[in-house]
Amino acid sequence: MTTTTECIFCTMARDPMHVAPVYRDDRVFAVKDINPKAPVHMLIIPNMHIASLAYVGPGQVPIMGHMFVVAEEIARREGVALSGYRLVLNQGEDSGQEILHPHMHLLGGKQLGAMG
Ligand code: AMP
Ligand code: ZN
Repeated sequence: MTTTTECIFCTMARDPMHVAPVYRDDRVFAVKDINPKAPVHMLIIPNMHIASLAYVGPGQVPIMGHMFVVAEEIARREGVALSGYRLVLNQGEDSGQEILHPHMHLLGGKQLGAMG
């Protein structure tokens, strides 16, 4: 999936009311993961389609950094900022990435255990 017309996150970015984002600004939006792996499982998604992290250059660095700021803001809103949370960004086949539009998972609300 490499074109914006086929990308579900691009569709969501264009039609934010349809997906009820938990957060939105001019650069990113966030939604609840449809298949949550933890009591809190949000996706922080840039409005802009970037086909791969291989295409992240200086022009995209501010957006990527902004995703971390938004993650902490959402963690505060969801009440997990103090208890702790995990941020995951899958890239490529071995990571199990399903949607080829970079996005950050925010997981929290329980003991997440070791990475593995
Ligand atoms: P990844 O494997 O990193 O590409 O993660 C894709 C994530 O998107 C998975 O955790 C899915 O559960 C989630 N997902 C897929 N479709 C939707 C949707 N329509 N709304 C919210 N989350 C979704
Ligand atoms: Zn996209």
